[in-house]
Amino acid sequence: MICYVVAETNQDESRAALTPTSAAGLVKLGLTVQAQPGLGAKAHYPDADYAEAGVELVADHAAALGAADLVLRVRKPSPEDIAGMKRGSWHVSFLDPFNEKDLIGSFSSAGVNAVSLEMIPRTTLAQKMDALSSQASLAGYAAVVEGAQRLQMALPMMMTPAGTIMPSRVFVIGAGVAGLQAIATAKRLGARVDAFDTRPVVEEQVRSLGAKFVKIDLGETGQTAGGYAKALTPEQVEKQQAGMAKIIAQSDIVITTAKLFGRQAPKLVTEAMLAGMKSGSVVVDLAVEGGGNVVGSKSGEDVMTDNGVTIIGHPCLEGTVATHSTQVLAANYAAWITHFWDDEKKEFNADLTDEIMSGCLITHDGAIVHPQFADKS
Ligand code: NAD
Repeated sequence: MICYVVAETNQDESRAALTPTSAAGLVKLGLTVQAQPGLGAKAHYPDADYAEAGVELVADHAAALGAADLVLRVRKPSPEDIAGMKRGSWHVSFLDPFNEKDLIGSFSSAGVNAVSLEMIPRTTLAQKMDALSSQASLAGYAAVVEGAQRLQMALPMMMTPAGTIMPSRVFVIGAGVAGLQAIATAKRLGARVDAFDTRPVVEEQVRSLGAKFVKIDLGETGQTAGGYAKALTPEQVEKQQAGMAKIIAQSDIVITTAKLFGRQAPKLVTEAMLAGMKSGSVVVDLAVEGGGNVVGSKSGEDVMTDNGVTIIGHPCLEGTVATHSTQVLAANYAAWITHFWDDEKKEFNADLTDEIMSGCLITHDGAIVHPQFADKS
């Protein structure tokens, strides 16, 4: 099996789908691993290290794409790249399938089997290949680091002969994978941390990290069978906003991570709340790509409000720590391939009845096979 790893063309993407270490593991399994030169350059994995790991560096992109049985990349491909792949081959990447109806159609008509990393089930068995989690963790960490850099204040309490500096206050909205890592990071830096999530089960986890869980009575909120938050009613959103307003006004950094899987992120921080914040405060909107939790946040831009609040709308904070986000992302790809690898026959065994496969496979053999997308193209 030839596995070809594509270097990202998007200027804002610094990650790669394989590292030399993960590639070496696949070569050991029996795959022929090929990569576009410069694959890991932005994440500081040099071509020479890939070559040493047994990766063939192939300069002719079109030829490599057309010959590959399995193509790996971080971001979704162009329609031209899909058309250049052979029928029956596999493509694994983030796909944003809820918003990419045409792309799914292109995969299906090209007869390419498309796997979406976002759709890998969040089960114990699939933990090693859970790319949403591996990347969200680093995004949560980076959100605090980025926020702290823009804040003209220190985070920890400092007792000096010239007086005491009080700890900065960080408020984390949404305590899933990214939010919990943001809480842990802010605590390590010495901040005083508050957090809120609509899933009550999270309260204990927040407390165990040393943060205070903000209690807001929203009535029935619950979670989906997959563990994701359910959308709130407009009345519940209003209650949540009222409950958070005072804490937001007192906070130096607000980090929002509140996402709804497959849907637009809820708007939680309003213009009035921003107007109530102190000059110099920072808001980091981790949900900016999915519509944003903060009114006025812009993907790829810093926005300064009239009262001096900076809203950071970085679309891929995990990309600011590309060496590590690539390390764990590559391990996710390798774990997915290894799970479906028949070690005796030395071949890829695409067991369509496997629950991980049926969870993340969007198109197969010229058809859209995933039930969530089958009727949407
Ligand atoms: P996510 O990125 O979809 O959302 C982030 C957080 O925002 C969630 O905690 C969600 O409850 C919260 N949120 C949504 N609306 C909100 C609102 N209005 N106000 C405040 N918070 C709001 O979630 P995620 O981090 O991907 O995690 C989703 C679930 O998957 C969690 O239950 C997590 O524990 C679970 N998970 C399980 C595994 C596993 O078992 N292998 C791995 C990773 C995650």
